[in-house]
Amino acid sequence: MTQQITHSELDEAVKRSPRKWVYLFSEGNASMRELLGGKGAGVAEMTNAGLPVPPGFTITTEACNGYYDNNRQFPEGVWEQAKAALAIVEKQTGKGFGSKENPLLVSVRSGAKFSMPGMMDTVLNLGINDETVLGLVALTGDERFAYDAYRRFIQMFSKIVLDTNPQDFEVVLERYKHEAGVKTDAEIPAADLKKMVTEFKQIAERASGQPFPTDVYQQLHKAIEAVFSSWNNKRAIDYRNFNKIPHNLGTGVNVQSMVFGNMGNNSGTGVAFTRNPAHGEKKLYGEYLLNAQGEDVVAGIRTPSPISKLEQDLPDVYQQFLEIAQRLEKHYRDMQDLEFTVEQGKLYMLQTRSGKRNAGAAVKIAVDMVEEGLITPEEAVKRVEPSQVYQLLLPRFDEAEKRRAEQEGRLLAKGLNASPGAAYGKAIFDADRAEELGKAGTPVVLVRPETSPDDVHGMLVAKGILTARGGATSHAAVVARGLGLPCVAGCEGIRVNEEQHLFRVIGSDTVIKEGDDISIDGATGEVFAGIIKTVDADFDKETDLKKLLNWADEFRKLGVWANADYPRDAKRAVTFGAQGIGLCRTEHMFMEQERLPIVQKMILSKTKEEREAALDQLLPFQQSDFKGIFSAMVDPQTNEGYPVVIRLIDPPLHEFLPSYEELLVEVTRLETQGGHEEELAEKRQMLEAVGAMREMNPMLGLRGCRLGLLFPEINVMQTRAILGAAAELEKEGKKLHPKIMIPLVGHVNELKEVRRQLEAVAAEIAKDAGKPIDYKFGTMIELPRAALTADQIASVADFFSFGTNDLTQTTFGYSRDDAEGKFLLKYVEGLEEPGLKDKVKILPVNPFQTLDRDGVGQLVAMAVEKGRKTNPDIELGICGEHGGDPDSIEFCNEVGLNYVSCSPFRVPVARLAAAQAALSRAEKDR
Ligand code: PEP
Ligand code: MG
Repeated sequence: MTQQITHSELDEAVKRSPRKWVYLFSEGNASMRELLGGKGAGVAEMTNAGLPVPPGFTITTEACNGYYDNNRQFPEGVWEQAKAALAIVEKQTGKGFGSKENPLLVSVRSGAKFSMPGMMDTVLNLGINDETVLGLVALTGDERFAYDAYRRFIQMFSKIVLDTNPQDFEVVLERYKHEAGVKTDAEIPAADLKKMVTEFKQIAERASGQPFPTDVYQQLHKAIEAVFSSWNNKRAIDYRNFNKIPHNLGTGVNVQSMVFGNMGNNSGTGVAFTRNPAHGEKKLYGEYLLNAQGEDVVAGIRTPSPISKLEQDLPDVYQQFLEIAQRLEKHYRDMQDLEFTVEQGKLYMLQTRSGKRNAGAAVKIAVDMVEEGLITPEEAVKRVEPSQVYQLLLPRFDEAEKRRAEQEGRLLAKGLNASPGAAYGKAIFDADRAEELGKAGTPVVLVRPETSPDDVHGMLVAKGILTARGGATSHAAVVARGLGLPCVAGCEGIRVNEEQHLFRVIGSDTVIKEGDDISIDGATGEVFAGIIKTVDADFDKETDLKKLLNWADEFRKLGVWANADYPRDAKRAVTFGAQGIGLCRTEHMFMEQERLPIVQKMILSKTKEEREAALDQLLPFQQSDFKGIFSAMVDPQTNEGYPVVIRLIDPPLHEFLPSYEELLVEVTRLETQGGHEEELAEKRQMLEAVGAMREMNPMLGLRGCRLGLLFPEINVMQTRAILGAAAELEKEGKKLHPKIMIPLVGHVNELKEVRRQLEAVAAEIAKDAGKPIDYKFGTMIELPRAALTADQIASVADFFSFGTNDLTQTTFGYSRDDAEGKFLLKYVEGLEEPGLKDKVKILPVNPFQTLDRDGVGQLVAMAVEKGRKTNPDIELGICGEHGGDPDSIEFCNEVGLNYVSCSPFRVPVARLAAAQAALSRAEKDR
């Protein structure tokens, strides 16, 4: 006889309460995640879709918050509603809570809006006591099963509700196994389990000082309270901090009738994904155990079978599960992560949620689902994380090898994750040696205290870079990102000894000498001893990714350009989909070996004539560099050139010279040891010249546009090289659009004067070429004063490019080379404060990686507005490292920049992030 089940008891209880705190599964749906938590909303949706879900109810997240507001007491009505809902579940299952004849057992589980796996508490088999256990024996005819359920309940309840040390139970369990001469829990005989139950209760009573609760309602009340409390346990708080989940959401509590997967070989339990979460293949993936309860699958005592084997073990159940899995995936239009239990041949669904997946699977599943007609291209674009795209394109460690290295204790230190990707090679401590070995085909990791432009030739051939000092915008980091090389920077856990060609690991005896193998992971900042093999990526073969990015291009408003200093970077950027070069740092070209002596001659010249002579020698090099870059950026089909922004020289000149300290040591050595006279004279002269150029604050000193104002002939040479290269290529029928950019402008007069210099050269070149070159003249906005006076500056500029590296440095007053290693990362991680439980976080994120919207962002927004006021046609872009960071890209979209420019490897990331920013803007405007 089917019993008419009504909600009236619950409805009555709700009427008497200030609000509805409890929802039967049949009352909820998928859109109620906030109120019911993910698990509650998921089981409700499944229930309403007619799937076999054990009946139950959810206590809302509001009730959890109410519990905290009410001094850790249930708010009025919660308990009454829960009891009323339980009465309905009794009717639905035909069982009685606390009944001796046909006992209803329930699970009590947490479930917050965002999944927090394993962070909060769960109690299973609740409702069992000395009397109901007899009912369970009678019903199942299986004494062993019933007492096993009982002892598991006491263990779990004690640990979670009574705060008993779980180890106390384990000791007893081990003793019983030993005495019975068995290996696994499942083999302990029923008679022993009975005795164990008594002992377990005594342990719990000793620990809590109270009798173990036999009243099933008391058990339930306490378990619900414990789940509420677990929202604020340390694990959960740390997890939310790490994943940026707000602390005020609260957790739902799901009370659900128990089904048992451990009632014989026609029972079982398992987990499965509707598609493979490791590579996206459309095939059920998961595992299960026959005759087991949920925790046995994760406990790892028995080895689960792959889900495909269920087809042989329980064919009908398998078919039904397969159909349900497909139905749920269609229903949610996403890959699902499912939990199920089979009780004596009957399948029950316990959970469904969107499954976590790795980068490759995320892209494949999104693209496949569009092709299957399940989702739209817009949804696919929104679903993939930009950081996953980045991961896909970089070499990474072979997972198994990395695990082995960790187990073998080969992790040496952790630095800043400055440029992702993994690499291994011989540790080499100077750029010349790195170049020599690298060119000969030996994999090399260049290890430096920090890098400077004169290390570039070594970096170019290295597989990876490791520095002990420097941050996310340090030279090493910027250059490595440009080259797509893994880089761990600011690794303060090592001390590099350049002279002895080794590094020591601080706090251990480990020393890595020149030629020793090391491996670095620029995505995590980890440094390992020895080789960990890597797995390579190939963009051309990433057909799914290319499809996804082509869809992204249709939605985005921002242009995506690249920062590239060399033709090979420019070419790579075009392959990745860049529509222009937003920053070519010309000084990097000065560093090549045959040019550096000429550059030094130029810097150390005493007269203008001497300097001009050196610059004349540099001109052909620069001109051919620019020709290379321009050619790489010409579409071979149309001969049309993409825009290329070339920036005139920027860094302080001493960066091109030997170190003052090293020279001093060298001169002193030659003086005391009586070295070669000629050599000594030469070194002394160099020391004097370098000494004369020294500055206390070179980053705020003679650099940027200041150089070309003091030594106009440098600007003249560079402009000649740029426009000369363009003129040559135009003769070949190519159409070019060079843009010349002036760095570090703080006052409009600086820009006016450089423009005057430049126009004179342009006129000269136009005369020689017989026609004017179509170039644009613009500036970087990278000083606060430039942003504040952008209206004045815009009247002299055709374009602005925000140099947010320097703008962050100068707005915060944080040295971009030192801050991260010294204090900034601690600001982000949080400072340890004695007496305080939590670390004190000063900054939410590293502002050199993610643009600080409140401060630096305000300056950018102001400059955009002011710039457009005096020059409505001004083109606006960003070329600081933030141009490749998804959050900062969203900001650039918000303030209405025309394009972002980032390192070539970030171009695909930026394409996706720009599309997501445009789509989310459009949604907000709707
Ligand atoms: C910047 O400052 O943001 C910038 C792009 O220039 P650089 O990093 O070369 O100083
Ligand atoms: Mg700069």
